[in-house]
Amino acid sequence: MTIENGKVVIHAVHERDAEAFWKKLELGREEPCFVCGFPVTSKSFGAIGVCKGKVVVCCDNGRCFMSFRDKIKTEEKVNEER
Ligand SMILES: [Zn+2]
Repeated sequence: MTIENGKVVIHAVHERDAEAFWKKLELGREEPCFVCGFPVTSKSFGAIGVCKGKVVVCCDNGRCFMSFRDKIKTEEKVNEER
């Protein structure tokens, strides 16, 4: 993190920031990947989303990342139909 002209510029999600973010969402030390169920930590997650008001995480596998959003959409649709 650097400060340019009084603005804080975040170049990338720093490991510590990611961990703080993870804790803020009240996630456990390990959360199952929403797509494949693989245990994901604050250091290995690929994405974070919200499904039915619950925080869900995705591992850093490219395939999971691709279907992560679709799966959230599908699940939310199922919920609406009830
Ligand atoms: Zn996965």
